[in-house]
Amino acid sequence: MSCDVSKPIPICLAPYAGGPQLTDVCSANNGILFLSILNTFLVANPKIGKPCERIRPIREPEDSYDFIVVGAGAGGSIVASRLSEIKDWNVLLVEAGPDEPAGSEVPSNLQLYLGGELDWQYRTTNESYACLSTNGSCYWPRGKNLGGTTLHHGMAYHRGHAKDYERWVEMGNKGWGWEDVLPYYLKSEDNTEIGRVSAKYHATGGLNTVERFPYQPEFAWEILNAANETGLGVTEDLAGDKITGFTVAQTISKDGVRLTTYRAFVERFRERKNIHVAINAHVTKVNIENRKAIGIEMLMNGKKYNVYAKREVILAAGTINSPQLMMLSGIGPKEHLESMNIPVVLDLPGVGENLHNHQSYGVDFTLDEDYHPELNRESANEYVKCQKGPLSSTGLAQVTGILASNFTTNEDPDIQIFFAGYQAVCNPKLDIGDLGNHGNKTSVRFTSVNIQPTSRGRITLKSNDPLDHPIIWSNDLATAHDRSVVVQGLKAIFKLANSETMKKLGLKLKHNVIPQCAEKHEPYSELYWECAISWNTRPENHQTGSTKMGPPNDPLAVVDARLRVYGVQSLRIADAAVMPTVVSGNPVASVNMVGERAADFIKQDWGVKQ
Ligand SMILES: Cc1cc2nc3c(=O)[nH]c(=O)nc-3n(C[C@H](O)[C@H](O)[C@H](O)COP(=O)(O)OP(=O)(O)OC[C@H]3O[C@@H](n4cnc5c(N)ncnc54)[C@H](O)[C@@H]3O)c2cc1C
Repeated sequence: MSCDVSKPIPICLAPYAGGPQLTDVCSANNGILFLSILNTFLVANPKIGKPCERIRPIREPEDSYDFIVVGAGAGGSIVASRLSEIKDWNVLLVEAGPDEPAGSEVPSNLQLYLGGELDWQYRTTNESYACLSTNGSCYWPRGKNLGGTTLHHGMAYHRGHAKDYERWVEMGNKGWGWEDVLPYYLKSEDNTEIGRVSAKYHATGGLNTVERFPYQPEFAWEILNAANETGLGVTEDLAGDKITGFTVAQTISKDGVRLTTYRAFVERFRERKNIHVAINAHVTKVNIENRKAIGIEMLMNGKKYNVYAKREVILAAGTINSPQLMMLSGIGPKEHLESMNIPVVLDLPGVGENLHNHQSYGVDFTLDEDYHPELNRESANEYVKCQKGPLSSTGLAQVTGILASNFTTNEDPDIQIFFAGYQAVCNPKLDIGDLGNHGNKTSVRFTSVNIQPTSRGRITLKSNDPLDHPIIWSNDLATAHDRSVVVQGLKAIFKLANSETMKKLGLKLKHNVIPQCAEKHEPYSELYWECAISWNTRPENHQTGSTKMGPPNDPLAVVDARLRVYGVQSLRIADAAVMPTVVSGNPVASVNMVGERAADFIKQDWGVKQ
C-alpha cells in the first residue's frame, strides 16, 4: 500500500452520515462488528463518504425560481448544474429520494442498495414473452436518491455508436447526428487514459471523470484471452475506432470511487448560492396555465408546496416517472386521462408509448476454484486507505463485449455481453440477481443482451394518485427478432466458454433445465434457449423512449429536437425518456449528453451568449 494514511479525518460542522448503513443492507453473517467498523471508515473518509462536501438540502423552497429541474439523476443533475452557471438565474433541483449513503460510493457495492428505500422498486406487468417464471412480471429497479440510478449502476462508459444517431436523424430529429452529439460527450468528459484511448474520441477537462477501475480480477483478462483465441476479438476502447470485441470497460468513477452524476456535476459546486437542492421531495404535478408550465406541486417531508417557475420546468424524472408526471399533469392520451378523471390539458398520444429496454439472459458457470470472498479485512483495509484493490472495482461487471448478430454488420452491432462475479460485496440481505451461488466453487455469470430491441411497451397510470406506481408493460422479447438476437449472443457465450482458455480454468455450465421449456424442446437446443430467455428473463436496466423526441408529423412524438414538449410552453424533458431509440450499449453517458444538450438549448433560447 503506497498511499498516505497519515492524514487526519476531516472535522466538519454538518457531516453527512445518513442513509442505509452497511449493517442495514448486508446480512449479519458478514460480522456485525466488521461491517460497522468498515461503515464508519467509509462515512468519515473525505474521498469516499465525503462527509464535509455535501450540499445542505433546503428546508423549505422559495416561492419561485427561474428554473425547476425535477429529478437529480443522470439527466437532471447536469441540467441543474449547467443552468446554475448563469449567476443571474436561480435553480431548484428537486429529488424524491434522500442523499447518497457512503457505502454506495464503493464500486464493488454495485446493486447492494437496490430493493430498499433507495429504489422505486418497479415491476412490469402482463408480460407474454418475458419473466414468465415470475408470472409475467419483471423487476425494474430505479434509483430514488440524489444521483438517481447513477448511484446503483455499473458505471460502464459507452456511447452506443454513430449509426444509432444516424437512425435518430432518419426519424426526423435534425441536429442529433453523430457529429452533432460528439462535442457534448467531449464536453462532459475528463478521461484519465488519453493515450491508451484516442484523443480523437475522448477529452479531458470535463466534470465526469472517465477511467479504468484500478483493479481487475485475473479472470477479467482471461475473458479477453478467450475472446482472442475464439476470434470474437478484443478492443482497447468500444467508443474508439474498433466498436466491436471484448474489453475492460472505462467507467465513470474517480480514483476508484463511484462518481454519480449528482456528485460530478452538482455537489462540487456547493458554494453556488443560486442552486437549491430539495430532497425527499416528490413532485406530484406540473402546474399548467393556458398551456404554459408555471411551476410544480410537490410533497416535501410530508408537506405540500406549490413552487413557481419564472422561466421553465425541466422534467428529468426518468423513463418511468417523466411520462407518469406528464399524465398526472393532464398531458397525454386523452381517453386514458379521462378514464383516470384527470382534466385534459393536452391530448398528446405519445406520452407513455414507445417504451423499450435492452433485453437479456444470463447463464452461470462454476470454475475449478474454491469460493473465496473478495470482501475481507485485507481488501477492506486496502480500499479504505488507498481506494484500490477488489473494492475499487465491480469485479467482472467491468468486462463487456459488443458483437453483431446475423441481422446486421460490425458497423452497427446489436449484441452486448456482460459478465458478473468476483465482486467484493458482503452477503446482501436481498439477492443480487447476477451473483449466483453454486456451492463452494467460484461462480460467474455471462449475459447476452439484445441492444437493438424492436418490441415496444407502454406506461399508463394505475390511478390519479401521484404516489401510486404506474402500470408498466414492457412487452419485452415480443418479436422473434429480439429473441433471436439474445440467442445469438448466447451462442457467442458458449463459444467463449468452450475455449481452451476457459477449459483450463475448469469452466462448467450450471443450468437447471427449465421443465416448461424442456417439455417442448430438446434441452440446450436453440428453441430451448429461446423458451428459456422468456421464462427466466434477466431484465436489463436501460429503459428508454417513453416521451420520445420526434418531428411534428410523428403522431407519437412528445418533444421536439430542442427537447420542448409539443403544445405546452416552458416545459422540457431531459432524460432517457426522450431518446427515440435506445443507444446500442450502456446508456448513461448518452443520458448525460442529453442533459448537456438540454442545458445548451435552454441557454440559447434565453439569449445567453456562449
Ligand atoms: C443495476 C443497474 C446497472 C446499470 N449499469 C449501467 C452501466 O454500467 N452503464 C450505463 O451507462 N448505464 C447503466 N445503467 C442505466 C443508467 O443508470 C440509466 O440509464 C440512467 O441513470 C437513466 O438516467 P435518467 O436521468 O433517465 O434517470 P435516473 O438516473 O433514474 O434519474 C431520475 C431521477 O428522478 C427522480 N424522480 C423520479 N420521479 C420523481 C418525482 N416525481 N419527484 C422528484 N424526483 C423524481 C428519481 O428519484 C431519480 O433520482 C444501469 C442501471 C441499473 C439499474
